[in-house]
Amino acid sequence: MIKLFEYEGKALLASCGLPIPAGALAGELPEALDGPLVVKAQVLAGGRGKAGGIRFARDRAEALAMAGEIEGSRLGENVVEAVYVEERLDIAREYYVAALVDRDLGMPVLLASAEGGVDIESVAPEAILRQPVDPLLGLQPFMVDRLTRGLGLAGEAAKEFSGIVERLYGALVSQDAELLEINPLAFTADGRFVAADAKVALDEDAAFRHPGRRAKPAGTPFELEARDLDVIGVETGEKGGVVAIMNGAGLTMATLDEVLALGGRMSGVIELHGATMNGPERIRDIIELALRRLEPVTVFVNIHFQFRSLVTVAEGVALAMQSFPELTADRLVLRLRGEQEEEARAVLADKGVTIFRDFGPACASAVERAAAQTA
Ligand code: GDP
Ligand code: MN
Repeated sequence: MIKLFEYEGKALLASCGLPIPAGALAGELPEALDGPLVVKAQVLAGGRGKAGGIRFARDRAEALAMAGEIEGSRLGENVVEAVYVEERLDIAREYYVAALVDRDLGMPVLLASAEGGVDIESVAPEAILRQPVDPLLGLQPFMVDRLTRGLGLAGEAAKEFSGIVERLYGALVSQDAELLEINPLAFTADGRFVAADAKVALDEDAAFRHPGRRAKPAGTPFELEARDLDVIGVETGEKGGVVAIMNGAGLTMATLDEVLALGGRMSGVIELHGATMNGPERIRDIIELALRRLEPVTVFVNIHFQFRSLVTVAEGVALAMQSFPELTADRLVLRLRGEQEEEARAVLADKGVTIFRDFGPACASAVERAAAQTA
């Protein structure tokens, strides 16, 4: 999945004929864009309004000053690397409209609600209209009418909204998008519908059908940095628990299941994915990343190697302990099994770390350790 920033998503919507406010990145703001403006932090997360990432400026000068303040600042998890500035709409009403591919239904679905502007998860399900679109039938007028009438729209507004729905569905198909969400779809005081926000996710596997579309990896900063280290990192969003480092997807899933079943709190998992080929330094870097980004209380290294040497892992752990004094032996739980097991144990012999051989007891120990650290 390729997630687009709001300004990229809006450009894509505009290219499909959907109405968006006049706007530009703060660094490229044309002189002509002046008057009341909205200054918007570009991060791949919603709820910017509540988090202080959306500001209202009287004019161009104030907008640029605000953009300067926001740029480089933190908004939740993310550092704001781009700021988008656009004309301020005089909004009379905020609607919600989205087109997405519903994996359960196996077909596109259109969503619409008269309760737009707020987080859609907080809108009562009965206040959201859902219209599946069988891709073999395509979008039919009765489907559009159902949404339009469901929102209580009539006359000119109904006609305009229908056009928006048609173009949104067209964009979903033509752009190979997984999600196109407009929230709010602003209905302005002068009676126009305008996409005031845009959340767009594209199908990565279809990128080849869109020359020039760069595959932008999605993920949290931790997950992206993990990728740079040639490992697969997944974070749970819960800091201060266990970070588990494993080899192989099977062992990774089993460890995750077991730790959670034992009542442990998981901060993240890392699948080594052959990273030991890069030597002990790489293992140290992986542990450093986990400590810095996930702030775990316990690091659980759970490796079962059939063909590669466990010595690399052990040396990496030893290096990490040496490099990061905060990584004390009581914050580590190791399970090393397989190739050169004895040699690996010898590497860590004077470090005071507990090294298990069996899966169950190792997981139990990781959970206990983490609980003791947080008690
Ligand atoms: P989000 O909080 O990340 O979803 O960011 P949005 O772009 O949806 O902006 C949050 C809220 O700011 C919207 O729901 C609107 O209420 C308000 N907002 C955004 N753009 C405008 C605008 O041009 N005019 C007015 N009056 N309000 C706006
Ligand atoms: Mn929004």
